[in-house]
Amino acid sequence: MKYSLAIIGYGGIGSWHCANIREKIADITVKGALDIREEAREKAKSDGLIVYETLDELLSDREIDIVTIATPNDSHKDYVIACLRSGKNVVCEKPATMNPKDLEEIIAVSKETGKLFSVHHNRRWDKDYRIIKEILSSGQIGKPYFIESRVQGSRGAMHGWRSYKINGGGMVLDWGVHLLDQVMLLNETPVVSVGAHLFSIFSDEVDDNIKIFIRFEDGVSVVLEMSTNCFINHPRWHVTCTDGTAVVENWKCDGKIVQLATDSKMEWADDIVYTEAGPTRTMAPRPVHTTAELPLPEVETDWAEYYKNIIDVLSNDAELLVKPEQVLRVMRVIDLIFKADEAGTAISCNL
Ligand code: NAD
Repeated sequence: MKYSLAIIGYGGIGSWHCANIREKIADITVKGALDIREEAREKAKSDGLIVYETLDELLSDREIDIVTIATPNDSHKDYVIACLRSGKNVVCEKPATMNPKDLEEIIAVSKETGKLFSVHHNRRWDKDYRIIKEILSSGQIGKPYFIESRVQGSRGAMHGWRSYKINGGGMVLDWGVHLLDQVMLLNETPVVSVGAHLFSIFSDEVDDNIKIFIRFEDGVSVVLEMSTNCFINHPRWHVTCTDGTAVVENWKCDGKIVQLATDSKMEWADDIVYTEAGPTRTMAPRPVHTTAELPLPEVETDWAEYYKNIIDVLSNDAELLVKPEQVLRVMRVIDLIFKADEAGTAISCNL
């Protein structure tokens, strides 16, 4: 079956949805768009879309089955609920809402109307994340205990509406939601502790350089870091497991695994490093023959699976990949991130 889709908010990611659906999803026709900005409306027209004058006009277009919402974060909730109540299925950009209570309301309306609601967690299809997922699920380097995931840049203040609190700006709601979603799929045991150090280096109102500290019930400890003022980056991923370490350096997915060599035992011998102020045996380099260096695994990933799954849910009652309950769990952790930063201490939880 073919589906017809409209986009609310035809800016950066809204027009990206249009171009990518057209290129990769044969069963969806992108028909129209709604935007409050003339430039965006002109762009939609030049992309061959109908431009709706009002929300009511869009909602009363009976051909539209799916609405993708890609406006700034503060307007998601009202749009999602209006669309669901008009009988439309909804894909909402992340973060679906700015707090868990609003998301609970949306989920209730989705259940009441029986209409699909999902969030565009496209970074579940990032290759760097899939590589780490593959390494951890294979057990190749044992059990993880430290997971570090970072996105870092040095371009300073956040762009446009992202720098205003009223619009739901700030790094926690922008990138934090992606990195949390990923890590909470890598480890599905409950989150038992949340800490956060949120800095506002360039903004008077929103966080822009942040560290988040998560502990899972099985003991795994996670650091998430996002920065707009970092001139020497850490790797995208650094994962320490009982039998080795994996590093993904960047989005190009350069990196490696270093693991224990199977046939060699650690010998302490006389390896001592003499630093200027004293000796250390513990931190002396490990003899090279006791380790093995391996390439990162090859993984296949395809973002198009996101909308293909939406079609499969609508046509065949398939299981939704990005489930509202998963998104709500992330949003509850986000709520604690703000509280932990304000309190200046980590907060225990069971999420
Ligand atoms: P943007 O500023 O480029 O585009 C937003 C568009 O919405 C603009 O064209 C603006 O005119 C329009 N708009 C603003 N208020 C509106 C309203 N009330 N009604 C109708 N249109 C309105 O922003 P963006 O970068 O495209 O971000 C939009 C959303 O997409 C945000 O929620 C953001 O977090 C999300 N996003 C997700 C990803 C991803 O990878 N999943 C990437 C970028 C943005």
